[in-house]
Amino acid sequence: MEVLNSGYLSIGPKIKKFEKKFAEKIGTKYACAVSSGTAGLHLALLAAGIKDGDEVITTPFSFVASSNTILYVGAKPVFVDVDPLTFNINPGKIEKKITRKTKAILVVHIFGQAADMSPILRLAKKYHLKIVEDACEAIYATYKKRRVGTFGESAVFAFYPNKQMTTGEGGMITTNKKSVYEICSSLKNQGRAPDMQWLDHKYLGYNYRMDEMSAALGLAQLEKLKFLIKERAKIAALYDKHLKPFKNKVNTPYTATHNTNTWYIYSVLLNKAVKRNTVIKKLAEAGIASKPYLPSIHSINFYKDLFGYKKGDFPVSEDISARSLALPLYIGLKEKDVKYIVDSLLSIIK
Ligand SMILES: *Cc1c(COP(=O)(O)O)cnc(C)c1O
Repeated sequence: MEVLNSGYLSIGPKIKKFEKKFAEKIGTKYACAVSSGTAGLHLALLAAGIKDGDEVITTPFSFVASSNTILYVGAKPVFVDVDPLTFNINPGKIEKKITRKTKAILVVHIFGQAADMSPILRLAKKYHLKIVEDACEAIYATYKKRRVGTFGESAVFAFYPNKQMTTGEGGMITTNKKSVYEICSSLKNQGRAPDMQWLDHKYLGYNYRMDEMSAALGLAQLEKLKFLIKERAKIAALYDKHLKPFKNKVNTPYTATHNTNTWYIYSVLLNKAVKRNTVIKKLAEAGIASKPYLPSIHSINFYKDLFGYKKGDFPVSEDISARSLALPLYIGLKEKDVKYIVDSLLSIIK
């Protein structure tokens, strides 16, 4: 209401305040609010100087936007298969994919848990590669006590309604580099420099601005972010508890000991012999939504057409994609609901 009454519906004080508070919470010097996580990744890659002909190492087990934004800047996503337990990029397989064209590693922290950053940081240093973090699914997650969003030259968060916090649509780029903050701030605003007049343009820019209403929502969500994550963790623990006796039937999520998980989703792995589509259909008949989550990016048709990927190229990622099932996870889900979901799932599998 404050925003609506103020007359500033965009480019106003709430954006500035949201950026400042967000940077404080994550622990970076700067934060730049944008219209979506995808827009943020696009700008972060531009700010990193990634361009036509460059290669960027990344994971095939992610939401398609992480890899699409590499294509936006004319570079080639070079996939590295993932760890079978955390589903994050496997650092041991990165080095042999580095070529003279490799400029950066786009690290995705998938499902709410950080990628194994120590070996990734070592490789980046050795080969002079930039790191851009896709932290869209892992706000507030920590790796060896350090928050995601503080490891790379830049990091990107997303606020679509299915994320841990939301602004409707929206995203945020965090960085400790003033130059990255300034370039992103300009590019999201049609390439204007801060000291330029409204119709002067320094770069080829975009309109990737977040509006003031979204920023106000974001500020309110930030205030209760700890609570939002704690509630998600409680529900995840309930699933763990009720699923534990059935380990041989349903694999529950694994969180590495040096990680804290902020539970973007709760995804189980079904046995190979179980027909996942049938499970989804029967769960729906019992009033339970579930989703195969996620398809491997290299198996998406236009990636196959562009790069000639085939089955077996990234077997770990493919195996997870074929067997993972996201169960309902939202604040307000009660223990009796979790019990009902688990009982239904087990009886369908049986
Ligand atoms: C949600 C998400 C994005 C994109 O965020 P949008 O705000 O939907 O554009 C990018 N990467 C990952 C891993 C995501 O989960």
